[in-house]
Amino acid sequence: MLAETQAHTSHAGYCPCCRHRTTFTIHGPWLRDEYLCDRCQSIPRQRHLIRILDTLFPRWRWSSMHESSPSLPILAKQCWRYSYSHYLPDVTPGSTKDGIRCESIEALTFADNSLDFFVTQDVLEHVFHPDRALREIHRVLKPGGAHIFTAPKHEALAVTRCRATIADDGSIDYLLPEEYHGNPVGDGKALVTWDYGSDFERLASEWVGATVDTFHTVDRTQGIDAAFNEVFVIVKR
Ligand SMILES: [Zn+2]
Repeated sequence: MLAETQAHTSHAGYCPCCRHRTTFTIHGPWLRDEYLCDRCQSIPRQRHLIRILDTLFPRWRWSSMHESSPSLPILAKQCWRYSYSHYLPDVTPGSTKDGIRCESIEALTFADNSLDFFVTQDVLEHVFHPDRALREIHRVLKPGGAHIFTAPKHEALAVTRCRATIADDGSIDYLLPEEYHGNPVGDGKALVTWDYGSDFERLASEWVGATVDTFHTVDRTQGIDAAFNEVFVIVKR
């Protein structure tokens, strides 16, 4: 039996990210970031997200997909019609800089009903207006399309709380001590703006006016096991 906190243990399995037999290695007690595929370095939430795509939408690899703020090119390698963007503060949304497209998910430049899939992995806890972001993503999806996403949901927190707000002049008001996660662009730091609680799906459903489905999976044969490892799906009807 592999203990949750047993570091530097390895086991064989199949990785949904690199689609190979592989070895998974636990490098430390925080499985969410430290339970890696030796071949592609993917983490549990990335493997879980692809498993959910494979299960619910078997033809996703041949569909149009846009990802906001990817950290690893896992989906890019698998999806033939993949595009991505980052939020770059000094770049006009919809234009590119050094080959990278800039988009704000609170005000996307895509046309209505234009994409089959939109993916955000640990992005929504860093936006100031998640209600706007979820509605914008829903707007650009085709009917039948889906937003597939991860975001830390704190089960012990009954009510979702805002950690920081932004004023019209861009100044930030910190309601709670500043907390940062890694950011693939910019200075490498992304401010946490919201702590999502057990009411998250109800809020998201109200914001978008659609059903939010939550997937919990524990399957170490595919390296899927960690805290905060839910994958959420909102299909546009
Ligand atoms: Zn892998």
